[in-house]
Amino acid sequence: MVIRNILKAGLNFIWPLKCHICDIALDPLSDMVFCERCEGGFRRNTLAPSGYINRYYDSVTSPYIYEGIMREAIHLFKYKRDEAAGGRLAELLCETIPDDGIICGADVIVPLPLYKRNLRKRRYNQAMVLAKMVSERSGLPITESLKKHKATPAQTGLSAKKRASNVKGAFICEDARRINGKRVLLVDDVYTTGNTADEASRVLKKAGARSVDVLTLARSL
Ligand SMILES: [Zn+2]
Repeated sequence: MVIRNILKAGLNFIWPLKCHICDIALDPLSDMVFCERCEGGFRRNTLAPSGYINRYYDSVTSPYIYEGIMREAIHLFKYKRDEAAGGRLAELLCETIPDDGIICGADVIVPLPLYKRNLRKRRYNQAMVLAKMVSERSGLPITESLKKHKATPAQTGLSAKKRASNVKGAFICEDARRINGKRVLLVDDVYTTGNTADEASRVLKKAGARSVDVLTLARSL
């Protein structure tokens, strides 16, 4: 422990430990990624669930609101290859979801897949980073049966109608046996219109999923 602290202090002298969002110095002996002020600024989602009628998924759980400082943190994780930020966000996700809810009602975790060219560009799938932590904490297995076989343009800036058609046919289920009869927990980083989760859920239900519950770190307003 003492040696570990000396090593950490030495490393911190060379690369001072700073909050990944606001750059303020952090306790050199801590494992912190974000400072307390930034984490305190992550707004919890207290909105009542709505808009799930005529959807293929059965529920959506998102403990945070995708805005302000949470949006910055997710951008670091998603587009700036900040894996430490992703690790901390995954921990926060696990700390905020109740064990007795969607977790115990699921048989298998399915991370929302990326198209393979995007995966190469980003190096990792942010949904998989979150899914791995949920799997570690819950003991639920992960299956990668769901694949994205079509590149889809970014959803931002598109009309509601275009957003829905944009993702149509984007996913396939490669091994339906791993989905058939299962209660699926579909994991992604952000829930916006729900169109992507809906299309993925349609494919999972077609493959025989008994239910699909969506879990995302944050949802947009
Ligand atoms: Zn900070």
